[in-house]
Amino acid sequence: MKLIFLGPPGAGKGTQAAGVGAHLKVPHISTGDMLRAAIKNGTPTGLKAKSYVEGGQLVPDAILIDMVRERLAMPDCENGYLLDGFPRTVEQAVALDGIAAPDAVVNIDVPDERLLARLAGRRVCVKCNGTFNVSKLADESVCPVCGGQMIQRDDDKPETIANRLRVYHEQTAPLIGYYEGQGKLRRIDVEKLPIIDGDSRPEDVFKAILASLE
Ligand code: AMP
Repeated sequence: MKLIFLGPPGAGKGTQAAGVGAHLKVPHISTGDMLRAAIKNGTPTGLKAKSYVEGGQLVPDAILIDMVRERLAMPDCENGYLLDGFPRTVEQAVALDGIAAPDAVVNIDVPDERLLARLAGRRVCVKCNGTFNVSKLADESVCPVCGGQMIQRDDDKPETIANRLRVYHEQTAPLIGYYEGQGKLRRIDVEKLPIIDGDSRPEDVFKAILASLE
């Protein structure tokens, strides 16, 4: 199955994509994770992408399209893929249709006010890449799963968050209409799920996604 996860930053795409990818046995491909690894390793792509990622801007389409084309040509994508964070512009979506068009597109819709709290409180483990909210951590610098060090992503700092949300609404949200027009869109409205401790639960979102794909 070839799947795309769409949604604003902080919608829980990464967490859900990891779970759904494992469940459906297709590789979870996060372009944000690929870019962060490239920046850390100082590769040519990383050097080109660094200033955009740190400023909360989109990396130019040509760089992303080449990166995803190469990744989808790898043997583990033979039976499909789950793309998280790509496409983010209509130009990327058109390019993907020419490489390996998706079968379905899951859109996780979360209102902006909830996203702000989630992004500002997000911490990531440098060891296992697990993502948690500070409100759920006994010690905000220690990963509750593997004991690794928890950090705040540079682009989760308040000044960059506002920029990322603006970029999402201007450049990525139009993809909802693009895929709706192709009859591939599955809408997950977290507002309709139960709210526990001020937010929806990841397990409820997971169930809603699987149900939407049946
Ligand atoms: P994410 O982890 O998906 O929030 O991505 C982090 C950052 O990586 C984004 O704010 C962009 O700077 C960059 N990025 C990730 N995916 C893309 C994409 N498909 N197109 C352009 N930039 C991207």
